[in-house]
Amino acid sequence: MGEQKAFDIEAWVKRHAARLGVREEDLRKAFEKDAGAPAGPDDPFEIPDVWKATYKYSCGGASRFFRELRDNARIMGSHCGKCGVTFCPPRADCPHCYGKTRWVELPGTGTVMTYTTVHFGTSAVRKYPFVCAYVKLDGTDSVICAILEMDDVKRAKVGMKVRTQFKEARDGAITDFVFVPAE
Ligand SMILES: [Zn+2]
Repeated sequence: MGEQKAFDIEAWVKRHAARLGVREEDLRKAFEKDAGAPAGPDDPFEIPDVWKATYKYSCGGASRFFRELRDNARIMGSHCGKCGVTFCPPRADCPHCYGKTRWVELPGTGTVMTYTTVHFGTSAVRKYPFVCAYVKLDGTDSVICAILEMDDVKRAKVGMKVRTQFKEARDGAITDFVFVPAE
C-alpha cells in the first residue's frame, strides 16, 4: 500500500460547495469540527447534501382575499349578517356565531389603532426603519397589520388616517400593498 495524503478540508469544502451550490464558509463551519478533530471511529459520519421542496400553499377560505389583491388591487372583508360584524383580515366563518360570512369590498381607507417602528429585521423589507401598523379599515370591526410607508417614521401616530397603496407587480400576498398617510 502506498502513502495516502491527509484529508484536505479546504479542497473538500471547495468541491462540495460547488456541487451543492452553497457558501464555502457555511460548509466549513458545519464540518470543521469533525474534520479537524475526528470523533470516535464509530460516531456517525455526516456528509452534506441539499433538500429542495416546492409546494403549494392553500389560502383556504381566505383565498378570494388574496386573489383580489393580485388581480384587482382591492381589499375584501367578510361580513356576518347575523352579528352585523365585518372582518379584515377576512374570516370564512364568524367567530361569534360560527355562521358563514359573505364577502364585502372595502374602500381601503382606515385608522391606525397602534403601531411599532421597526429598526432591524430580515431581507424581506427594503428599508429601515419602517412602521408596522395595525389599521382598522373603514367598514370593519377588526384590525389588519401591514407596513405603513412614510418618509418620516416619527410622524406616525395612533389615530392617523391611512389608505392602501398597491404595488405594480402583485403576487397575491399581504405585501402586495402598504398603507400610506391619507392626508
Ligand atoms: Zn356571526
